[in-house]
Amino acid sequence: MTARAEQKERPQAAEVSNREIVDHWFDVAADRIGLHDDARVVLRSSYREVAVQIPVRQADGRIHCYSGFRVQHNGARGPYKGGVRYHPDVDLDEVRALAALMTWKTALVDVPFGGAKGGIDCTPSELTMDELQQVTRSFIDKISKVIGPQRDIPAPDVNTNAQVMAWMMDEYGKLHGHSPAIVTGKPISLGGSQGRQAATGRGVVFCLREAAPLLDLRPDGMRMVIQGFGNVGGWAGCIAQGLGAKVIGASDAYGAIHHEAGIDADALAEHVRHGGRLPDFPGVDVITPEELLALECEVLVPAALGGMIHAGNAHTINARMIIEGANSPTTPKADDVLADKGVLVVPDALANAGGVIVSYFEWVQNLQHLAWDEREVNDRLGTRMRKAFRTVHQRSQETGESLRVASYALAIQRVAEAARDRGYLADAPGR
Ligand code: NAD
Repeated sequence: MTARAEQKERPQAAEVSNREIVDHWFDVAADRIGLHDDARVVLRSSYREVAVQIPVRQADGRIHCYSGFRVQHNGARGPYKGGVRYHPDVDLDEVRALAALMTWKTALVDVPFGGAKGGIDCTPSELTMDELQQVTRSFIDKISKVIGPQRDIPAPDVNTNAQVMAWMMDEYGKLHGHSPAIVTGKPISLGGSQGRQAATGRGVVFCLREAAPLLDLRPDGMRMVIQGFGNVGGWAGCIAQGLGAKVIGASDAYGAIHHEAGIDADALAEHVRHGGRLPDFPGVDVITPEELLALECEVLVPAALGGMIHAGNAHTINARMIIEGANSPTTPKADDVLADKGVLVVPDALANAGGVIVSYFEWVQNLQHLAWDEREVNDRLGTRMRKAFRTVHQRSQETGESLRVASYALAIQRVAEAARDRGYLADAPGR
């Protein structure tokens, strides 16, 4: 990746960090449910934070040291679970925030996991495959004592994929014996689950299908704009297109494109799979990222990085609803602006939970030495997503809370209850 592209990949003008976003909503929801001060102290902070040095000898013969992190936020409901991100902006504070969000996400969709996240501050596109493998194996060696199939189970996130998971599984296996359940999002040949790659995007579309009738909309004919046409955004676009939706705009780190009559999402995904950049896709207009956000549409799916919808651009958004494929894409100030404009926001913890749900299915299949077919995986995913959406919506109707505050409130209550039942907390709300 060039320095210019890397520059572009950073969110523009985000006024708050991922950490501040997650902490803000935790505090709002904790107030709503009357969470005891002791519980706040425990649930707001991480259980364990590991930072490791990853020295790699590069092609020019010099050693470069990357920083790797694994943060385990809360394990009251089960083994820690969360992805590993490779990105130059990764730091401990961001990983901390993403780990906490995983705790709330796993609790909200009721899978028996806690929350964790990992990251390395590297730029994969600047590394050879050998260097990438070396970085990955070195990271797993160094965190191997704190992970395990019943302890902490990594998965893919931004710039990591099934190949990276395969190296992780192999490296862990050298120390502990063959252990497919140590990571999820693996290749099918190594015990990966059918449907895992598409699961987060598919979950976004399940949310879209649940949210649409609330605004008297139907997926058929719906105009969709996708910020970040990667794994999550790309699959969401292709699956929604299969239901009749029309992707009229999309972006990646290199730019944004628009075609009012509809961009063929399958062809665009194929273009990206072959290393193509969005602005080079034929038959579309190249627009600015700001123009993309302002396109008139029924649904906007932010599926890039955190903090990209902020006070400086929220007022330009021209969508009826936002389904958050990315983690923490919307700052609290932007949320207020969107609420005033009457935009329905389906929050990250709910909207992008499809990935961790199918990761849970993969882990279950690995532990039982079974393999489900794709239809079974997708049906089970749909059942869980619909149940989670309806539970959140019901609470929101009863309390007047936004879907985001209702999501956090439900999740915090569940985690606090599990912590109390283990004897860690004296009090849990709702008992
Ligand atoms: P990815 O690397 O496959 O895709 C990210 C996309 O965003 C790429 O197209 C990239 O070019 C684009 N992008 C980066 N910077 C951009 C910018 N400034 N403007 C526009 N586009 C930009 O990553 P992914 O796995 O699809 O993850 C995307 C988001 O979804 C992340 O926030 C991630 O934490 C979240 N998420 C992913 C999963 C999963 O299963 N992969 C699960 C839950 C949440």
